[in-house]
Amino acid sequence: MSRLLEVNNLKQYFRVGGSIFRPKYVKAVDDVTFHIDKGETLGLVGESGCGKTTTGRTILRLHEPTDGQIIYDGTDITKVDMMPYRRRMQIVFQDPYASLNPRMTVGDIVGEAIDIHKLASDKHERKERIYTMLERVGLNSEHANRYPHEFSGGQRQRIGIARALAVDPEFIVCDEPISALDVSIQAQVVNMFEELQQDLGLTYLFIAHDLNVVKHISNRIGVMYLGKLVELADSYELTFHNLHPYTKSLISAIPIPDPVESRTKKRIVLEGDVPSPLDPPTGCRFRTRCPYATEICAEQEPEFREISKGHHVACHHVEKIN
Ligand code: SF4
Repeated sequence: MSRLLEVNNLKQYFRVGGSIFRPKYVKAVDDVTFHIDKGETLGLVGESGCGKTTTGRTILRLHEPTDGQIIYDGTDITKVDMMPYRRRMQIVFQDPYASLNPRMTVGDIVGEAIDIHKLASDKHERKERIYTMLERVGLNSEHANRYPHEFSGGQRQRIGIARALAVDPEFIVCDEPISALDVSIQAQVVNMFEELQQDLGLTYLFIAHDLNVVKHISNRIGVMYLGKLVELADSYELTFHNLHPYTKSLISAIPIPDPVESRTKKRIVLEGDVPSPLDPPTGCRFRTRCPYATEICAEQEPEFREISKGHHVACHHVEKIN
C-alpha cells in the first residue's frame, strides 16, 4: 500500500492567557507522528480532551498547526493554500444535530459543497449528484426537499456523510461520528462507513473514545493520552498484545459478551483523573495514574519507539511490565 498521509512531529498549542512575557498554552497535540496508507483506516482513541479531535482538525488545517509537518499524497500541505485539498480531504462531525444548518434543505446541504468546488455543470447534474449521494448513504431523492429536524439522529449522520462524499474525497476524518447516536444505530453507521470504503477506496482517520468500535473498523490503532501518542500498532496486536499501561486499562474496560469469560477478566481501574492539559505532569504524562511509575518517569519523557515491526510505544518500563 502506498502512503496517503504522513504526520511528522505535529504540535497544536492553543494560547489560553498569561502575559505577553509569560504566555500560557494548552498543548493539545504535542509531537505526534504517524502515517496512513491509501485505503487504510487508522483509529485514534483516548479519553475526551486527549487531543484526538484536534489532531484530526489540524491535519485538515481547520486549526493552523503550531509546528510539525503534514504530508498529503507526497506534498507538504502544512503551509500551502488548502483550497485544492479541501475537496480531497473531508470531515464527518460528531454531532449530527449541530453540524447541519437547520435552515437549509438536505439537498442544499449536500449541494453546497458541489457548488463550492464547481462539480456540476448545470442544475440537472447537480440534482443527479445530490440524489446519488443520498442513495449511497441509504436515503432517497424525496429526502432532498426536507429539513434536518425532520430526520432521526442516525439519518442526520447519513446526511453529514452524504455531504462529505458529494465532492468525491479520498480521505475522510471521521470525528467521533457515532458517539452521539443510539447504540442500536451505531453498528449500522459503522457498517456503512466500511461499505463506502470498499466501494469508493476511501482512507479514514477514525476518531472515537470507544476502543470497542475502533478495533472493528481499523487496520491500525493509535492511543492518545494528554496530547501524546502513547501506543500505535496493528489493530489485532493492539487488542491482544498491547504494551502500554494506559492501553491495557482501555482494553480491560471493554465489556465481554461471554459471561464466563467476563467473570475471569480483570478490569484495570485507573486512579485519579486526567491531569489538566494546562499543566501536564513532567516526564511521562501518564505517570500520575500509572501503577508502574518510577523516578525516571517523572524526570524523562519516554521516547515513542518501535518495539516490533509497526508497533510503537512510549514507556520507559515496557520490557519490565510485559
Ligand atoms: Fe508508566 Fe513510567 Fe511507562 Fe509512563 S513511562 S507508562 S509512568 S511506567
